[in-house]
Amino acid sequence: MAQKEISGIIASPGIRIGKAYIYKGVNIVIPKYKISKEEINFEKTRLQNAVNKTKQEIMAIQQQVANSLSSDMADIFSSHLMVLEDPAIITKAIDSINSEMRNVEWILNDISLELIKSLDSIDDVYLRERIIDISDIHKRLIKNLQKIEHESLADLKEDVIIFAEDLTPSDTAVMNRDHALAFVTNKGGRTSHTAILARALEIPAIVGTIKGTSSIKNGDSVIVDGVRGKVLINPSNEEVISYISHQQDLLLLERELSKLTHLPAKTINDVEIGILGNIELPEEMAVIKDHGADSIGLFRSEFLFLDKSLPDEETQLEGYRKVVEYFSPQPVTIRTIDVGGDKIFGANEDYRERNPFLGCRAIRFSIANENLFVTQLRAILRSSVYGNVKIMFPMITTLDEIFIAKDIIEQVKYELQQEGLPFAENVPIGIMIEVPSAALNIDVLGKYVDFFSIGTNDLVQYTLAVDRIGEKVAYLYNPLDPAILRLLKSVTRQAAITGKDLSICGEIAGEPRYTMVLLGLGFRNLSMSSAYMYQVKRVIRSVTIEECEALVEKLMSIESASEMTSYHETFITTKFPFLFSC
Ligand code: PEP
Ligand code: MG
Repeated sequence: MAQKEISGIIASPGIRIGKAYIYKGVNIVIPKYKISKEEINFEKTRLQNAVNKTKQEIMAIQQQVANSLSSDMADIFSSHLMVLEDPAIITKAIDSINSEMRNVEWILNDISLELIKSLDSIDDVYLRERIIDISDIHKRLIKNLQKIEHESLADLKEDVIIFAEDLTPSDTAVMNRDHALAFVTNKGGRTSHTAILARALEIPAIVGTIKGTSSIKNGDSVIVDGVRGKVLINPSNEEVISYISHQQDLLLLERELSKLTHLPAKTINDVEIGILGNIELPEEMAVIKDHGADSIGLFRSEFLFLDKSLPDEETQLEGYRKVVEYFSPQPVTIRTIDVGGDKIFGANEDYRERNPFLGCRAIRFSIANENLFVTQLRAILRSSVYGNVKIMFPMITTLDEIFIAKDIIEQVKYELQQEGLPFAENVPIGIMIEVPSAALNIDVLGKYVDFFSIGTNDLVQYTLAVDRIGEKVAYLYNPLDPAILRLLKSVTRQAAITGKDLSICGEIAGEPRYTMVLLGLGFRNLSMSSAYMYQVKRVIRSVTIEECEALVEKLMSIESASEMTSYHETFITTKFPFLFSC
């Protein structure tokens, strides 16, 4: 049995060991034949029955999701029901049966191909995301027309790790959670509905592996490492033993560390460190609070935009209000949408920009789509009356973008005032520092904003010119590169001179191995997901600022990234053997 290792994007964390099961979904063959005049009514009845059955199935899934997760998650399926009720599909199908006298499968296939083609050509990432909804519905309709027994992940009878080309949201939602240990898909990115559901269901998942299904056979043994973004196929006995103990250690550690939840995040010498939360969806807010964050340093609002094509102001307001009220009076920093880059990954490869990370992303996208931006700002500002809201702009490159964005905010405030809609007057406006130009210019930008949050995920990518999702250059993507430490040191120094609040919200803020470095560099507010919040707090409570500064000084005296990394690794694993032993 050949041993292999593949890597992908962590959609949902965790480690699982089990047998592979390749899920093919429905394999549709579309029958194509002409019908006689006498058969027209029969064909229309077949269509109606299939539509009814499909609706019932989707409503059942929706109910299941609402019961086990939340009504927001169940809403994902409302768009499926809308597709089924869309006259552009059903009435058109009936008309075509009457006039063209072709069988219903053939007609439905043409209609959905046409719809997919038209969505495909729209230069709008949200609308293009609807393609997966349309093909999901199309497959269900054809299956119900032909009475094909759909291979369903609800019917899993034994524990498996699912491998698939891609999974639809309904595949994921109905997955038998007693037996679905984890899943691995060839396609997809962090922002797909499927990834969102996986996190909410706490099913470890690796997506975007490209070659996952072609590397595996049914029954192969597999380790899904949702900590490092790897899948080990036919691992050695030693690897299995080491991962079993890794899993157990993680569980024990988690249990032990959870006792820290209500203890303050203070260093030995009493320096208080802010632990803030990063969330993507309102559903995550309870978990993040339970782990000990009492405010939100980064609400990645673009994830709200994935449920519906373009959520209206009221829908957005509802999403923001929930989080803002929940954390009130503590602040919630809502970042305006950051689409582009890897966030169109999986939607439609043809429409990716040539250099998507350098393209029309984040604030550039918002400025270029002002209507959308205005709707979002109206919803955010209106949510400010329910608690303590801060607005943050992603990927600021140059001062002019701040001026433009702030002008739009002023215009939005004026309109809200005219309409008599209340909002808090002094909502702080901040920016992400994630582009080197902003990091180098932070003293100037600071004159015009109220706070900064450092996005190292992008700052590392742009400073080192290394794609943050590129497998082939992953070896270069290293936060412990001398250039990064120098840049971060200069950022904390300059930010302190401006007197504006500073936090850091890139992934390194939530990785305990970097906590000492960040404290030593001068960061006092760390914004992170819940995954390693306890561990980060554990490190904070075991160190003094002086020893963190000494570590940074030592690291900055090292010239090469590899030497710096290896010195740091030895230092940190020796100091915290229990945290980094597996
Ligand atoms: C970052 O770039 O560090 C960041 C927090 O933003 P995102 O990961 O959403 O790009
Ligand atoms: Mg970023």
